[in-house]
Amino acid sequence: MIRFEDIQEQVEQRRPGADLELLRRAYIFSAMVHRGQTRYSGEPYLTHPLAVAHILADLDLDEQTVATGLLHDTVEDAEDPHATAIELEGKFGREIANLVDGVTKLKRLEFGSAEERQAENLRKLMLAMVDDIRVVLVKLADRLHNMRTLEHVPAHKQRRIAVETMEIYVPLANRLGLGQIKGELENLALRYGDPEIFRQLTDHLEANKEVIEALIAQVGGTLDDQLKEHGITAKISGRVKGISSILRKMRVQEIEVQEVYDVVAFRILTDTVKDCYGALGIIHSIWPPVPGRIKDYIAMPKPNLYQSLHTSVMSERGFPFEIQIRTEEMHELAEHGIAAHWRYKDRDQKLSREEVSGVQWLRQVLEFQQDVRDSQEFMRYVKIDLFPEEVHVFTPKGKVVTLSRGATPIDFAYTIHTEVGHQCVGAKINGRLVPLKTELKSGDIVEIRTQSGHEPSRDWLVFVKTARARSKIRAHLKRIERERSVELGRSLLEKELRRASISFKTLEDEHKAALREEFKVPTLDDLMAALGAGRITPSQVLKVVAPDKEAKEEEAPSILSRVTRALGRGKRADKVLVRGMGDTMVSLAGCCRPIPGDEIVGYITRGRGVSVHTESCPNLEQLLLDENRKIEVEWASAGGASRFDVGIRIVTANRPGQLRRIAELLEQEKINIRHAGADVDSEREEGVIMVIAEVENRKQVERIIEKIRRIGGVRQVRRVAPSL
Ligand code: MN
Repeated sequence: MIRFEDIQEQVEQRRPGADLELLRRAYIFSAMVHRGQTRYSGEPYLTHPLAVAHILADLDLDEQTVATGLLHDTVEDAEDPHATAIELEGKFGREIANLVDGVTKLKRLEFGSAEERQAENLRKLMLAMVDDIRVVLVKLADRLHNMRTLEHVPAHKQRRIAVETMEIYVPLANRLGLGQIKGELENLALRYGDPEIFRQLTDHLEANKEVIEALIAQVGGTLDDQLKEHGITAKISGRVKGISSILRKMRVQEIEVQEVYDVVAFRILTDTVKDCYGALGIIHSIWPPVPGRIKDYIAMPKPNLYQSLHTSVMSERGFPFEIQIRTEEMHELAEHGIAAHWRYKDRDQKLSREEVSGVQWLRQVLEFQQDVRDSQEFMRYVKIDLFPEEVHVFTPKGKVVTLSRGATPIDFAYTIHTEVGHQCVGAKINGRLVPLKTELKSGDIVEIRTQSGHEPSRDWLVFVKTARARSKIRAHLKRIERERSVELGRSLLEKELRRASISFKTLEDEHKAALREEFKVPTLDDLMAALGAGRITPSQVLKVVAPDKEAKEEEAPSILSRVTRALGRGKRADKVLVRGMGDTMVSLAGCCRPIPGDEIVGYITRGRGVSVHTESCPNLEQLLLDENRKIEVEWASAGGASRFDVGIRIVTANRPGQLRRIAELLEQEKINIRHAGADVDSEREEGVIMVIAEVENRKQVERIIEKIRRIGGVRQVRRVAPSL
């Protein structure tokens, strides 16, 4: 069992000047929070954070990371009283609070065994969602200790955890170049994930133990003598290869356990790169190399920066064995990978640029590091470098969805299903209602609310990022636009025909051909669409149908004409005046949905008439980059019974009956509620209530907002677009 003193000693030795007081405080705090808690093994829970911190100290990581190891389970995996993020920040500063928070977030990823095709996404996600790569190092140390103590976990859970380790954490450790941790995790995962093959291999190795040991001793002696003779200083070590790498070889070569001979590996650590190649030549002069097994990862490093020379040779007794040759520094990197950054952080010259030449990625990092001393910024750079173009988010069921950076809940909805996109009326990120244009961040859990019959808004096009969402929205809008144009065109024409006492049926029966010819349209629907869009006027049609009837004087295009148009669901009417335009479609923009009394601005859309926004609409700036599309509009006289949808968002203390109080108030005011919903944020102890109400004008809204504000417990009330 690890004692705190062991950790303290290790940090003190390897990082002189480290803040040991910080570690002590973290230890005491963790002990306090975890007191009385036990692990599956029956040991005090505290043994776990201590072991994790020890693994991190062993990697020579800084004291902030080691302290995070001590604290990593205090927020979530503690019984009462667990710590809060705020408390941690107060006690240990923002850096450590952020690190612990990062580790806590990664726990979300541990839901059941990942599907095969999800595994790669999850690994990416882990790297992408943390602001600081040290979070991943703590997570790996956490997993390593949990794997070391897996025997105490109930059998039915062992396999799942082992599979998850193999799919997620082993490749992650490999990606970060943490060879030592990767090897141990891999062996443990195999032991619990595939116990039968593991037992066969260990039995086989045990049965051949004497031969293996003799081989190690003999080859080791020869290597030592020969290298010395040629003036090469080197550290030589021989060992039995990891079970997992033996297994990999068995699978590649399709051989049985009994046929496995290639189980011994030697490692030679030299001072210089030149000596690496020197040693390789000497080895090949003693034992014949196995063809095709020489690998030069010094000239051609692996993507995770691994550098080494590999060769396999045949011993006198006919057993093949493997030799890896590298410098001490390369070895350091092979074993500790990205963690080596902290190891060398305070020892300037150790990892010189020459030694890593050819390693493009690390060289960039080192060059960058000269300019940026701050390690957080350094890691942000590394992170961005890894996956610059993507964000990875979750469905509520834990499926990972990969989207382009900057994607919004609408993009997410269209990725799930086209209908989910069309019918999207709201979105929650991590349980909280958000505007639909909110940018998604990696790790967000995104929940889409749909309403059948809802249709996509043109305003979405301003902020969606994915091509799929864009094209689906466009296609749908085009269809709707046409339907509406046809409908509007027909009603406009019918009105005109009535004045000339001609029925629509007569027109269909007798004038179809003439109209198609005159207006060059394939069908009458196309003619209605052209009428609805204002490209053709009803009186033009009348001239064809009844040339003898005197057409009514058409309104001059320059005077103010009143336009009304049925809204989406066909109940309410917009009353907006458009200056200087003939019969034109006018609609209230869905993004801000103005109501009488609002200052409004018209925007001339392509082939869809005028869309009316409030002057303060956030989309307007973008839309009006083209000044020519702006048009002055004003409200028609407010008389009449027109009703307009308005959204009201209320933030309130979490107490019972709030929604009812608000509903009662609106009823008193004789305001019809079209939709009302509430969400509780238990963390903040508050609720968010969304009401969509029918109002006549802005004054009325302002009055009720003022009244809602006076309800006890209400913290914030504001008007929002009713689509939210
Ligand atoms: Mn843990």
